[in-house]
Amino acid sequence: MQFFDATTLLLVNALFNGMAALSWALLGSVFRVAPRASWLLAGAHLARLGALRCHECRVDWPLHAWPALPDLFALLTLALMCLGVRQLLRLRFWWTDVALIVGAGTLLVLALRDQPVLLQVGGSAAMALLALLTWHDVRIGARPLLRTSLRWLLALPYLAIAAALAWRGSRPFWDADSTSISPLTIWLWLLLSLASAVSLMALVLDRLVGRISQLSLEDPLTCALNRRALMRELQRLQALVQRGHPFCAVLLDIDHFKSINDRHGHAGGDAALVHLVRELHQELRPADVLGRLGGEEFCVLLPHTQLPEAAGIAERLRARLENRPCPGTIGDIALSASFGVAQARPGELRPEAVLVLADQLLYRAKSLGRNRVCVEGDGEREAPGEEAAAGGSA
Ligand code: GH3
Ligand code: MG
Ligand code: MG
Repeated sequence: MQFFDATTLLLVNALFNGMAALSWALLGSVFRVAPRASWLLAGAHLARLGALRCHECRVDWPLHAWPALPDLFALLTLALMCLGVRQLLRLRFWWTDVALIVGAGTLLVLALRDQPVLLQVGGSAAMALLALLTWHDVRIGARPLLRTSLRWLLALPYLAIAAALAWRGSRPFWDADSTSISPLTIWLWLLLSLASAVSLMALVLDRLVGRISQLSLEDPLTCALNRRALMRELQRLQALVQRGHPFCAVLLDIDHFKSINDRHGHAGGDAALVHLVRELHQELRPADVLGRLGGEEFCVLLPHTQLPEAAGIAERLRARLENRPCPGTIGDIALSASFGVAQARPGELRPEAVLVLADQLLYRAKSLGRNRVCVEGDGEREAPGEEAAAGGSA
């Protein structure tokens, strides 16, 4: 057996696809990385095994007794790959377009099963469409943080597969021996399989990196930003203050949270924290930044905002919390919070200076009876009904 003859290449191709299917299955089932996508992609590689064929090298895979089967397997390969990519990229899981192409392609392949030349044209066209869909999905679905050039590079193997299929489908028009397969052709398909596998692995890595960086910046309970992410945002906004873009910081601390825990249990307290973040998000603008500093203390950064406007926003947040108790297992959990509002100063070298100031105002709000907003400079804004909302004493 020569090293580069068609039979050997076919065997290498089959081994590669078998190993790839196993790797995806392990990734999905043991490591639980993108399980659904992994299973779809494992299925794609298994189906590819069924699609391998070589007339010239006279390798008769057991399934090839029936002429339409390799094309049907190839269609299935590309359909599963397309769906796997969509799942991997968390795109909206459309399957109707894929199902339509596979359905039409299957009918075509079955109708043309006894005419190898037409079968090659029709089957290749349907497969090329699926490869083009995958190319499109990778280009638009890869993480927005990736540079455009990198997204194009990751999508390139699918464009190359579509081009190779278009070449295969057009062969009958210019090549009398269009159904023959040379070692060069098998090399081409092997390289394209490898390129698409590398691209898929890069997409998995990218998804993992995205998840890890999200976890490193997010509070696990409330999904608000954590302290680290908040400090990063604070630094960014403080740098903008020097260029004439003001921002304000609002610190808030839930009143008598300990008594909420005592009355509703720790789970009730947790639910109240999640509820608070959800409610605050409803009131805030998309550009505003909400983070959890720790325990039941949160911080809102308001970009492009002066103190009077920030005071109004803080008051709205306070009122919203007071008016929307958190549903609990043993009845509603009344919530209130105390707020301190300060504006960042230009020329301030320490970004956290605005937080120190807001913290002092927050403690002032606490000492004045809670459930109120204290704003830098003009004292506090009182809100009635503190004891009723907080349900305890200071
Ligand atoms: P104040 O009105 O003065 O702010 O009183 P407080 O009870 O809200 O504040 P205190 O600092 O006395 O108690 C805060 C409590 O928050 C104590 C702690 O057990 C609880 N806590 C901190 N983190 C969490 C959490 O993630 N989940 C729950 N359920 N409780 C938490
Ligand atoms: Mg508190
Ligand atoms: Mg506290």
